[in-house]
Order: sequence, then structure tokens, then C-alpha cells
Amino acid sequence: MRNEILTRAKRIVIKIGSSLIASRATGLRPEQIERLADEIAALKASGRDILLVSSGAIISGIKKLALKEYPKSLPVKQAAAAVGQSRLIWAYEKAFERMGIHVAQILLTHQDLADRRRFLNARYTLTALIGFGIIPIINENDTVSVEEIRVGDNDTLASEVAHLVDADMLIILSDVDGLYTEDPRKNPSATLIDLIPEITEDIERRAGVSSTFEGTGGMATKIRAAKKVGGYGVPTLIINGERAGLLPHVLAGGPGGSLFLARERRLTSRKHWIAFTLRSRGHLRLDQGAVDALITRGKSLLASGIVDVTGDFDAGDPVSCLDPDGKEIAKGLVNFPSDLLDRIKGLKTQDISRQIGRQEYEEVIHRDDLVIL
Ligand code: GLU
Repeated sequence: MRNEILTRAKRIVIKIGSSLIASRATGLRPEQIERLADEIAALKASGRDILLVSSGAIISGIKKLALKEYPKSLPVKQAAAAVGQSRLIWAYEKAFERMGIHVAQILLTHQDLADRRRFLNARYTLTALIGFGIIPIINENDTVSVEEIRVGDNDTLASEVAHLVDADMLIILSDVDGLYTEDPRKNPSATLIDLIPEITEDIERRAGVSSTFEGTGGMATKIRAAKKVGGYGVPTLIINGERAGLLPHVLAGGPGGSLFLARERRLTSRKHWIAFTLRSRGHLRLDQGAVDALITRGKSLLASGIVDVTGDFDAGDPVSCLDPDGKEIAKGLVNFPSDLLDRIKGLKTQDISRQIGRQEYEEVIHRDDLVIL
């Protein structure tokens, strides 16, 4: 199973973490970028389509601006990202040029992905670039990203890109070997898990508490990224990018890294986008009857099953549905704004028009706009 996935994946998104290609002391590490470029070019030569999501802009900018410490203020951080991004892409440009491969720079924010038209547009552009044999190199557009429109971290960005381009696999190159049974620094008998069939709550909890599983980045965001793309049928490999030759070795079927399998029943692109790209603007707490109707009977959400409405949202916005215990069970695009929904919650469909005078929709969230999580 593992070998088949690794050897057959054709379109691959590879995330390269800052710590692999840059350090605070030296700035970018061109020799590392060259070594990774060699390995990636070989994968491309074997017929795979490669897209990179690379961090390292801010750390490279810090060095270029000769800042003494990591910037605290947002404008300085964004300035560092701006000067660092050009150096970063230049380093890749030079490294890949040695093999006659062209690269392209793509900078994205959450806003680009949350707007369905821009999302599709980005998809077509990336597909066109791949058609030209170019390696797209993607990063967050840090220079214009404020909190509300940020993706936030490049593990998450890479998972969204994998969905965007309909990848066969996401690879997260990091400075750890993968997921261990226990914290290897505390317990020397801990072993690397080479195949994770399902991301259970236990796996998530393990990654969540053990920030010591690795030096930087955190295993939690990587597991979350794997879970996200897994819902779209894309498996994730977490592998140590510091070890020369390991990446091609593992993709040829050799041991190394941790492979997280994907769910078999993949969501449609639009449902995946609702579930994993959009951010909820509010919460609807449901009664058990509504939870059962949604989960086991595949029904639309009606007002009668809603107990409580929180948040300030408009019709068409994404909202989360919670079970009576407060656990998120579904997400969807709501047909009513929050103030109106607050007035009709709990009402039977036939009583709604009496309450609000008109009724465009019977469903609060139509099943076509609803994703069970
Ligand atoms: N976009 C940031 C950078 O290029 C890195 C974000 C991350 O590593 O998660 O510096």
C-alpha cells in the first residue's frame, strides 16, 4: 500500500520548511537549496509534476536587513518578507537553472483561496505552469497579509495548494524524521511510524502535546494539514529533508518518513473548499434529532433542529454545526443571516413565514452546501 502510493504519485506538492533552507545566523543556505533542487529535478525527470511551497522569506529578509532579532512589529515583519522573498526565489531560480528548469513565483493569501472565482483562477494558472514544465514556487503573500486574510502557516498553505491542484500526494519536508510512537528525545525506544492509516484523535492529541517532537514548525500543524488533504483523498508524507538522498529513496519505495493515508471517499472539490478552506463565521448548535438527520440520513438542515445561534453572519456565509455537546459535526453555507436565524431557530418550516413574513428557503443549509466532518 505504502509503496504503491509513493511510487505512483504523479502530481506532488512539496512543502519546504524555513529551517531546512535558512538559518537565523547565515540567512539562506544556497547549498541546501541546490541539493534539494537536484533531488526535486530528478523526481521531475522521472515524470512527476512538482509544485513547491517554500517558507524562508522572513528569515532571509531578517538577514538581508541585518536585523538583530525577529521583528515584533507587523510592518517590519512584512518588510522582511518582501526583501527576503526576492532573495528566496532568486536562490531557487539559480538552483533549478543549473538543470535547465524554470520556476515561477506565486504568492497567495487566504482571501485568494476563499473567493471561489479567485480559487479557480489560481487553479488554472498553476495547471498552465505545470503544462509548461515549470516548477511553481508558492508562499504566503506575507507582505500584504494581515491576520484576517492570512493562511498563517505554510503546512496549511501546502495542504490548500494540494487541494487546489488536485495533487496525488503532499510531502512535508521538515527537520524531523516523521511521527514517532513517543517523544524520541524522552524515550530512546520510540519508533518511527511508517504508515498511519487514519488520523485518530489519539494521533492528533499525541502531536498536539508533543511540541518536542521536533524543533520548529510543530507536528500539530503538519497533522492538521494531513487531515485536511486526507479529506480530499490526498495522502501526506512527512519526511526529514535534511538527509541527503532520502526523498528520492523513499519515493522509489524505500523506508523513511511517515505516510498518512487519505480517506477513500473523497469530497468533491467544492465541498472540500467549504469544509477546509472557508472559515466559519458562526455556530449553530443543533438538537440530537437534527444531528441524526444530517449524519445518518443525509438531510438538509432545517430551522426546527437549531437550538442556538452564535456569531454575526450573512446569508451565504460558512457556519459550523455543533452537536448538543458542542462538538463540530458539519459545516455549510447558510441561507439566512444570523439575526433572522436567531428569530426562526426551533420553528417548524410552516411557522417560519408567519414569524418573518417571507420565506425564500425551506432549508437553513441545503445538503448540497453542507459537509459532514
Ligand atoms: N511565509 C513565511 C516565510 O516565508 C513562513 C511561514 C511558515 O513557515 O509557516 O517566511
